[in-house]
Amino acid sequence: MRLLLITASSPEIRRIRKSRFLNFQQITMPYLAALTPSPWVVTHVDEEAEAVDYEAEVDLVGITFHTPSAYHAYRIAHSFRERGIPVVMGGPHVTLVPEEAAQHADIIFIGEAEGLWQQFLLEFEEGRHTKIYQTAAIPSLEHAPQAKKDLFHRKDYTNGVIISSRGCPNRCDFCTLSMMYKNRLRKRPVAEVAAEYASFRGKIIIFWDDNIAADREYSKELFRAITPHRKWWSSQASIHAGQDEEFLELAARSG
Ligand code: SF4
Repeated sequence: MRLLLITASSPEIRRIRKSRFLNFQQITMPYLAALTPSPWVVTHVDEEAEAVDYEAEVDLVGITFHTPSAYHAYRIAHSFRERGIPVVMGGPHVTLVPEEAAQHADIIFIGEAEGLWQQFLLEFEEGRHTKIYQTAAIPSLEHAPQAKKDLFHRKDYTNGVIISSRGCPNRCDFCTLSMMYKNRLRKRPVAEVAAEYASFRGKIIIFWDDNIAADREYSKELFRAITPHRKWWSSQASIHAGQDEEFLELAARSG
């Protein structure tokens, strides 16, 4: 079975990312590939790095995108569905407006994919999949696999992208995270994060966390663990981190 995963990218999202220096590797699809069982042969097209081959011979297409790329992603889906190739969509936009996305896909994922993704692929293989997959559970990140680095295709100023946590316990009313993740923070074991961090060859690493200061004691432990690797890292943190001298000191020392 052949699975084509597409990280959709439109001129609209490029304008936003370019102006905010946010144009680094998105790891959703390389991570989803790591959750995909072996009978499936996975290819990944990241539109920031290469064009979609609309004639590709595949059994299933998966698309992730952010809201500015929604119409573009729907056009991609339409092209494959016209050829009779089923399309599955997921990601933040699909989770927040599933009724819209469902009009453009054969299958949609609402929320997080862990656990359900493997179940869906099995049901797809057996021809008994459903239209909507939605988990009530908030998946743990304990022993989550590493995103597949051979599916990182962008050539940018960074050398690695990684997550240590997902979600945020805060409830800022303008933020989509509380709707998507129900204010639940999940963390990977520090040793696993530090080992993946060390495995990147270059020096410049992005922690793609929603809020790397969401659990400051966890983050301090992480910063201590990665300090010996002498890399530089960047992430995003809520402003209360600025009141914690120890957090700032350890963050600065770690990279
Ligand atoms: S602190 Fe940041 S990530 Fe957390 S809910 Fe507020 S805006 Fe969202």
